[in-house]
Amino acid sequence: MKPHKRKAIWLIWALVVPIGIVLTYQMFPPLVSGFDIELIAFLLLMCFVAAMPMIINNTPIFFMQWVSLAVFLYFGLFYEMIFMQIAIAVLLIRIRIPREHLFRFPLNSFMFFMISILSGLAYYALGGTHRVNLIEDSKSLILSIAYFIIWFILNQVILTVIFYYLHERKREIFGKDFVWETVTTILTLPVGIVLYVLYMEIGAISLLFIGVPFASLSIILNLYHSSEKVNTYLQNATEIGHELAQRLQVNEVMDLFIQKVSDMLPVDYAYILDVVDDKELQLIRRVEKGEERSNDVRPLKKNEGISGIVWGTGKPALFSSKKQWKDISRGYMPESVESVLCVPIVRSNKVIGVLLLASSQKRAYEKSQLMILDILSSYFAVAVDNAKHYAQTKEHSERCALTKLHNYRYFENLLTEEFQKINNGNRKLLSLILLDIDHFKTVNDTYGHQSGNEILFELAGRLSNLIGSQGTVARYGGEEFVILLPDIEKKDALKTAELVRQTISNRPFTLKQHIENEEQTIDVKITASIGVATALEDADDPLALIRHADRALYVGAKRAGRNRVAEYVKQ
Ligand code: GH3
Ligand code: MG
Ligand code: MG
Repeated sequence: MKPHKRKAIWLIWALVVPIGIVLTYQMFPPLVSGFDIELIAFLLLMCFVAAMPMIINNTPIFFMQWVSLAVFLYFGLFYEMIFMQIAIAVLLIRIRIPREHLFRFPLNSFMFFMISILSGLAYYALGGTHRVNLIEDSKSLILSIAYFIIWFILNQVILTVIFYYLHERKREIFGKDFVWETVTTILTLPVGIVLYVLYMEIGAISLLFIGVPFASLSIILNLYHSSEKVNTYLQNATEIGHELAQRLQVNEVMDLFIQKVSDMLPVDYAYILDVVDDKELQLIRRVEKGEERSNDVRPLKKNEGISGIVWGTGKPALFSSKKQWKDISRGYMPESVESVLCVPIVRSNKVIGVLLLASSQKRAYEKSQLMILDILSSYFAVAVDNAKHYAQTKEHSERCALTKLHNYRYFENLLTEEFQKINNGNRKLLSLILLDIDHFKTVNDTYGHQSGNEILFELAGRLSNLIGSQGTVARYGGEEFVILLPDIEKKDALKTAELVRQTISNRPFTLKQHIENEEQTIDVKITASIGVATALEDADDPLALIRHADRALYVGAKRAGRNRVAEYVKQ
């Protein structure tokens, strides 16, 4: 909300409410003089009821109206107004509004001042008076009910208007909140009337007769509400589990997890820590106030700090305020943190990581949330495992086991992608270098197949070092290698090919495991023949590019005497 609106709220409150209360006192003096014990009893009941709101869709619904009805009818408008103001303050403290929402005090104070005064005036306008006998006088009964209904309608209207002013969008008038509020309010009307009638008859003891059952009902409703909340959490958790399972990348899984958990719980700070080699806890994700931060935070040992203890014991931990964790915290923790929720991430009965959530508010988390988080963290562990597995399998399927280079399958896909870029106009040039070792069969025959493998391995290393990030080196098959160079014109590709030729021929390859003598290492000289072709000048599809590089290799290099580079020439 914009700051000028907050200022406006404080200003309007200061201008209207204090003077309004004084004027009310003068125009409608209270029906009792002084402040007696009975008034205190009513005030206590009102505060008690205000402290037990039922929270639905994050909106507290409270049943103060029935008490306020009895107060109004017996003690007059002024006390009804004052009690309501106090009760609202109690309610706001009870629901622990954050410091930034302090404006809700004047806002609600103003709102309920307006409701009190307007519904009171309406009651008087209709001819209503105080201390009436509701049992014998049906007109008074109807007027009291009318007062109650007007109070309720004003509440809804003012709420809608203020909501519209503050958020510049319409409040859903007949939404779930409204239905709940209407139903519960109507249910409390008879209670209010009974309280008033009974109070007239037997005095303050009536507050106990009505208050105790009401308190019990409130507690039951709150219990019901929290079990409904847990149900919703469980439902959310299942959905999150499904979504996590669909992500194939570890990073994606972590991001989604933190995002979903933050949507569900009040989270200002979220940390994922990884158990590394069973030695230490390393921070691997750090999100503070929605922003990702660097992970350069000292690792924790087992049983060190909150996360270390959760790792050591395998048990989740819940703290409601800084006081509770201050003495055990060791590592990094932002200054403003109050509540902390920390759960182990367990896989196959082993703690593989720790999740720590924190909030700047006190008492931000409940036990039920701890349970849900525990479930979520096991979904998370499975999803991370899957993603790791997937990455590994993919890596395996795209690499050659001997040389660790990309294999033909990978190269083929890459080539297709590159040609797609060419066709989309995102790539102008694509050069291909194909090389084949000369007389490799002889090498195998002389030194053994294992030695041949050693050469292939070393050659792969030399090629990768030379090409670096310029392009992609892959093992094309047998003793043939391929180098794909995007955005490199033929002239430069030929230069690179010449460098490749020299890296192979200039320095002998060292063999360790040759058949002749297992102790000694020997040096073997190798050469290679190389063909080069460039798209689009030599070819306009992947197969043609390969075919033409191959042709250059055999015709231009091998047949011309080997150990040379040849470019494709059109016939
Ligand atoms: P040139 O290419 O110069 O015509 O002669 P060459 O002897 O290299 O050609 P050829 O295609 O006849 O033989 C290729 C040899 O490469 C055959 C095979 O034994 C060897 N070879 C292919 N793959 C491997 C491998 O993975 N390890 C080893 N050690 N040898 C391999
Ligand atoms: Mg060959
Ligand atoms: Mg060969």
